[in-house]
Amino acid sequence: MMEEKARPMTMKDVQAKAEEKKCPVQQSLVFIEEFLAEPMCGRCFPCSMGSYEARIRLRRIVEAQATEEDIERLQRIASNMLKASMCKKGKDTAQFISEKITMEEFRRHLNGECPDMECKSHIRFIIIPERCTMCGLCKDVCKDNAIIGEKKKPFLSGYLPFEIAQKRCTKCGECIKVCPEGAIIIEAIAVSEEKVGA
Ligand code: SF4
Ligand code: SF4
Ligand code: SF4
Repeated sequence: MMEEKARPMTMKDVQAKAEEKKCPVQQSLVFIEEFLAEPMCGRCFPCSMGSYEARIRLRRIVEAQATEEDIERLQRIASNMLKASMCKKGKDTAQFISEKITMEEFRRHLNGECPDMECKSHIRFIIIPERCTMCGLCKDVCKDNAIIGEKKKPFLSGYLPFEIAQKRCTKCGECIKVCPEGAIIIEAIAVSEEKVGA
């Protein structure tokens, strides 16, 4: 049987895929990754050189390793691509990234924040002890054994409270879905570090 060839993504498909995210950095990464998923024709220098570097810079922002220089460089790449790209795909990608860079939510990643709580390196999952009824549902669902604590047992005192071991947590989000008390929340790492430093 003949294998069906995958249809190349159109700009509309890329836009729809990017819109599944809220974070402008994540959205930009979707654009550049889809752009680079197809063979590079190399007709315009700023695109053939800059697009790979743009992907590296965006990944650095997502991974909380970026500095002001990464944003400046990204801005320059997008603006050069916008001017020089000979194809619509190159222009649309550059235009999209150029617009996102100017957003406050984009820049806040430099302070260790992802306001849309989507960049895993910028967030952590925590349990609010006052809301937790120690039902154990979160622990049952965590495949990474990142939740410590003991289910509440009647007539026993000295429970081990439920807590998330940050080093083991892969931030999959499964525990939040099952907690009936809304006791698990996503917190910006920058904010929690501020609290520790306070
Ligand atoms: S912008 Fe378009 S035409 Fe120019 S190198 Fe990139 S893919 Fe090729
Ligand atoms: S986010 Fe995922 S890995 Fe982390 S504690 Fe919850 S279920 Fe476990
Ligand atoms: S599911 Fe919610 S209420 Fe139950 S133990 Fe986990 S954090 Fe506590």
